[in-house]
Amino acid sequence: MPPTATPAKPFRYRGRFAPSPTGPLHFGSLVAAVGSYLDARAHHGDWLVRIEDVDGPRTVAGAADHILRTLAGFGFEWDDEVVVQSQRLDRYHAALSRLQVDGWIYPCACSRSEIAAATTTRSIDGGLRYPGTCRAGLAPGKAARAWRLRVPDEEIRFVDRVQGETRQNPERDVGDVVLLRADGQYAYQLAVVVDDAAQGINTVVRGVDLLDSTARQLWLQRCLGLPTPVHAHLPVVVNAVGEKLSKQTLAEAVDPARGSAALAAACAFLGHPPPGELTGAPLPEFWRWAIAHWSMSRVPKARAIYPGVIAAG
Ligand code: GLU
Repeated sequence: MPPTATPAKPFRYRGRFAPSPTGPLHFGSLVAAVGSYLDARAHHGDWLVRIEDVDGPRTVAGAADHILRTLAGFGFEWDDEVVVQSQRLDRYHAALSRLQVDGWIYPCACSRSEIAAATTTRSIDGGLRYPGTCRAGLAPGKAARAWRLRVPDEEIRFVDRVQGETRQNPERDVGDVVLLRADGQYAYQLAVVVDDAAQGINTVVRGVDLLDSTARQLWLQRCLGLPTPVHAHLPVVVNAVGEKLSKQTLAEAVDPARGSAALAAACAFLGHPPPGELTGAPLPEFWRWAIAHWSMSRVPKARAIYPGVIAAG
C-alpha cells in the first residue's frame, strides 16, 4: 500500500497574556493585554491568561487577583482556566531533568562576583555575559549553585510580525542561560517555554522588552523538541524620562471603573485610534469595534513610545 499523507491539523490560533504579579495592572501591561487579545480575537482564536509568579521573591501578595479582576472589569474574556506558574513546578523539574539527560545543561558554581572577576563583557540584557567558566565541568571543590543551558555559537533568526527580521547569536550576545537559579527558583526562560508548549500557544504577542529573550527561547524549544510559536513584539510604554512603566517606576494602576477610555488609549498607542463616536462607548461596543479593526500591520515598530499623557483611567 502506498503511504498515506497525514492531514495537517487545522490551524487554530492560540495566544496568551502572561503577566508577572509584581504589582497592579498598569497602562504598560494593559497595552500588552489589549494587543494580544485583539490579535487572538481578530483571528477567531483562543486567548489564555497565565500568571507568571515563578519568581517567588518578586511576587506581590494579592497582585494576581487584582490583575484578573481588572482584566475582567475591562471586559476581557479568557479561554481555559487561568494557569499559575507556582503550581507547575513539577513540569519545570521534568523539563530540566530531560535537558540534563540529553546533555544540554550543566551545573555552574560561579557567584556574581566570580563572574564579574572573570569578564567585563556585557550581555545584550545589560548584565555580564557568562564567560562559560563551568562549561567544561566544575572546578575541584566547587559545588553547583545553578544550572545553565548551553547556547550555540550560531545566529538564530526569526521574523517578528512587528519588528521584522531579527537575529541573535546567543553565545556571543548572552552566554549560557541560567534555568535553575542559585536560590532554587526556576528561571522565567524555562517556565515560559514549558508553559507555552503545554498550553498549545502558537502565537506570542508581548512587549518588545522581551525581544532579546526570544532567540534563547527558540533555542530552548529546540533542545526540548517543542514547537516554535510565531512572535509579535509590541512597543513598550515609557514615561516622560524614557523609563518603561513598571512597579519600580511607580506606574499607576488602570481602573476599569472609568470605562473604555484606557482601552481606547491602549488601542491608540498600538496604532488604532478609535473614532470620536466611540468616546465613552460601553465596553461590548468598544470591543466589537476594536476586534473588527485590528491589524498587526498598523502597530508601530518603535521599541519605546511615550504616549504624552499616560492613561490611568
Ligand atoms: N511575565 C512577563 C512579563 O510580565 C511576560 C512574559 C511573556 O509574555 O513571555 O513581563
